Amino acid sequence: MDVGGFTVTHPFARVYHIRDVLGVYMTLLVGMERALLFDTGYGLFDVQSQMRAITPLPLTVVCSHHHHDHLLGARWFSEVFLPEGEIAGADRYVGGYQRQSVLTRAREGGIRLTPQERESYLAFPMPPLKPLGAQVFELGGLRVRVWPMPGHTRDSVGLWVEEERLLLTGDNFNPVVWLFLEDSATVEEYVSTMQNALYLPFAHVLCPHAGQPVKRRAVEDYTDGLRPEVFREAQPVDIPPYSRVATRACSPAEGYTFVFDNARADSGIRTQG
Ligand SMILES: [Zn+2]
Repeated sequence: MDVGGFTVTHPFARVYHIRDVLGVYMTLLVGMERALLFDTGYGLFDVQSQMRAITPLPLTVVCSHHHHDHLLGARWFSEVFLPEGEIAGADRYVGGYQRQSVLTRAREGGIRLTPQERESYLAFPMPPLKPLGAQVFELGGLRVRVWPMPGHTRDSVGLWVEEERLLLTGDNFNPVVWLFLEDSATVEEYVSTMQNALYLPFAHVLCPHAGQPVKRRAVEDYTDGLRPEVFREAQPVDIPPYSRVATRACSPAEGYTFVFDNARADSGIRTQG
């Protein structure tokens, strides 16, 4: 079932969590009538063929936010939904600079691409990006609700997969969460986003930078750790290529790292000087 560098896992009956060749995950939801793909990876290899190897059902493609490791794989589809507020800024993340850096990473990782594959990666036009609102996708016995999650980016969304009691978080919940990019929300907004997510009766979450489902309890512990006293303990950390940003890291729960900067922090947790 694995085609073109993808690794497919099947954690729940109607859910596939798929790692692309550079290590980011996308999630495929398969109902009785339709399927939905959440995020598309870096797009070095044919994402659509990989999905077709799993299901022949009509497929809707939705991206959680506009960063290149989620959106460049859109090249393999004729149209992709992106949160409405993320569309204007998307060009910055899918241009020549990002594509070239993905190819460099691929070469350094020993991933073989033909000259034609490299050329077409640099040249492809993005498909139309359709504005995504707070909508519901009915997949046939599987209802998927768009769940706004301002944080990692201001207009990021998650998906609430009701019948599976599963929340897909996008980059708002990962082993390492970044909240220091130009398009990130404030720490305060992010904390609200995570607290609001707990109103959903999810049993598990799946995230784009980890392969295994995470149990609700771990998300509760992490969210509980998002407090001023934990933020004030944060230590400077260098995150290349973002070394010019004064990033600080703390650990809201064991095994989780939260990275933010002063521009995202209110005065109670900002570093002085
Ligand atoms: Zn991101």
